[in-house]
Amino acid sequence: MNAIRPLRNPAELVEAGLVAPEQIASIEAVAERYAVAISPAMAALIDPNDPSDPIARQFVPDAAELTTTPEEREDPIGDLAHSPVEGIVHRYPDRVLLKAVHVCPVYCRFCFRREMVGPQGLGTLSPEAMDKAFAYIADHPEIWEVILTGGDPLVLSPRRLTEIMQRLSAIGHVKIVRFHTRVPVVEPERIDEALIAALKCSGKTAYVALHANHPRELTLEARAACARLVDSGIVMISQSVLLKGVNDDPDTLADLMRAFVETRVKPYYLHHPDLAPGTSHFRLSIEEGRALVATLRGRISGLCQPTYILDIPGGHGKAVIGPDAIRENGGCHTVMDFRGGEHVYPPSE
Ligand code: SF4
Repeated sequence: MNAIRPLRNPAELVEAGLVAPEQIASIEAVAERYAVAISPAMAALIDPNDPSDPIARQFVPDAAELTTTPEEREDPIGDLAHSPVEGIVHRYPDRVLLKAVHVCPVYCRFCFRREMVGPQGLGTLSPEAMDKAFAYIADHPEIWEVILTGGDPLVLSPRRLTEIMQRLSAIGHVKIVRFHTRVPVVEPERIDEALIAALKCSGKTAYVALHANHPRELTLEARAACARLVDSGIVMISQSVLLKGVNDDPDTLADLMRAFVETRVKPYYLHHPDLAPGTSHFRLSIEEGRALVATLRGRISGLCQPTYILDIPGGHGKAVIGPDAIRENGGCHTVMDFRGGEHVYPPSE
């Protein structure tokens, strides 16, 4: 299908053939609780005849979202526990999140901030709150990196982004500005000269962390948008979520990581899904995740290897949870090669 505007409500999803008319009552119940938006680029990628389409699974609401399990929580990674002023999350010493906006061009059904983003979410920071957020960054010389996230910071106009970047450029101890975004994939046309100029105007080193979960998302248009960013001197890294029914098989994961590298996006993080409300149908066990990630070693180039991580619930930060290749063994070590063979290190001869 070829929508020209984002699909934002159950009636539009039915009209587009993405939701069966008999499902509309349950989908309306989901949409009352969690934001819905599917950009034209993502709607065009969905095969409405495939009930297991991995793009649809990420964006089309599902009645399963109405089921909340006991371990799920509204703030799964504990942003609020580390928010000294509105819009700032200061979890690690040398970096902060700056959440200027809580709007996204698409709303992912597994979103870890689904209680904060969308029309009923935390909105855009007021000018006064922005002043306080910048004052906090300026007052903390240990802050080396500012990560713009939210929400998706690249939904802001180039004018608003320029304002933010000019304010950061005045803070000498901030050296790196990172943008967490889905825009190059879901609205590649937004990545134009004006937006790129805004990202670069601070004179700081700019990184763009691209969120994508399935190799089909790396369309020709998305790859061209990434090329415009990389050609301008911006460094790109990836982040993906390991999701049941989207990318939880070795071939899809390998293709996704290769697609990133082909696009000059260095694979960075593969997140274990967070305990966000109504997302249990996306979660696999950590054992399943580790077994999948183990298949990547040796199968695809070292350039393509992501780091598998878990955000510890409660705001305790990230932990690397990938498969171990080494274990201590009576004064020496046993090391596993990529085929599963075991070797003693150092070798006895
Ligand atoms: S783009 Fe990020 S913040 Fe927005 S809905 Fe998706 S996961 Fe959540």
